[in-house]
Amino acid sequence: MNIILIGPPGAGKGTQAKRMIDRLGVPQISTGDMFRAAVKEGTPMGKKAKEYMDKGALVPDDVVIGVVRERFQKPDAKKGFVLDGFPRTLEQAKALDGLLSDMGTKLDHVVVIEVPDDFLVERLTGRRTCKGCGYMHHVKFDAPKKDGVCDKCGGDLYLRDDDKEATIRDRLTTYHGQTSPLIEYYGKANVVRKVDGTMSMEDVQKAIAKAIGA
Ligand code: AMP
Repeated sequence: MNIILIGPPGAGKGTQAKRMIDRLGVPQISTGDMFRAAVKEGTPMGKKAKEYMDKGALVPDDVVIGVVRERFQKPDAKKGFVLDGFPRTLEQAKALDGLLSDMGTKLDHVVVIEVPDDFLVERLTGRRTCKGCGYMHHVKFDAPKKDGVCDKCGGDLYLRDDDKEATIRDRLTTYHGQTSPLIEYYGKANVVRKVDGTMSMEDVQKAIAKAIGA
């Protein structure tokens, strides 16, 4: 099964993708995860991607498309995939059409996780990440027992740069300008399945399973 997940930053695409791949037996292909790994390894591609990621901007299409083309050549991608965070522009969507047709396959579902901007801003700006163990508390939905201290390990909690309101608003602007037009693009192929992303992770998971009949 070939699936794309589309949604604004913080909609829970990564979490849902991880839950779907276990059930479907296909790999998750996350361009964000691949770029973060390349940044960590300090590869030339990682260095280039970092310049854009730090600003909350999109990595240039040719770089992203090259990375995905290479990933599709691995044997596990023959079984299908859950693409999370790609495509993000019309150019990328057109390139993906070409890659799929070269592979003799096509998309089955484009799952759109819908969440209003203000809801996302509240969800993300309230997150407090632990410097010690990486656990994420939320000041409203999962408040630590003691302010600024992680319940799990006693480490210091902090607000990540990419969870600051200005950065989130920038990424949302990018999403509305560049990525959400893809919903109309895929509408023509009748593969778009919209899901309410304001529900709990479990309920979103059930709604996706129902939408894709899996
Ligand atoms: P994500 O974890 O999917 O939010 O991705 C983190 C960052 O990686 C994004 O803010 C972009 O800078 C970059 N990135 C990931 N996927 C893409 C893509 N398909 N096109 C352009 N940039 C991307």
